[in-house]
Amino acid sequence: MPLLKTYNFGSGAFVKRLMFCEEKGRLLDAYVTATDRQLKAVKSLSDAAKDNRPAFGEALAHAEHTRQDAEEARLALHLHSKTHAC
Ligand SMILES: [Zn+2]
Repeated sequence: MPLLKTYNFGSGAFVKRLMFCEEKGRLLDAYVTATDRQLKAVKSLSDAAKDNRPAFGEALAHAEHTRQDAEEARLALHLHSKTHAC
């Protein structure tokens, strides 16, 4: 059954989509979650840059980790859409 889902992005933008494929919906949820975590990590990195170097190093490592997670989630969504034609 098609499902209307609303995705909110940190910028305030949102997307409403009809989801016909359950797995694609799951992968899109994971991607939105990962990009939201990345956005928060980048904000923390910016704050840490204003404070001190040790906090900046930790924030930089965390931001890089969340960037990789978001990229993996984006790739999984892309590969599923390509192979499943959805
Ligand atoms: Zn699919």
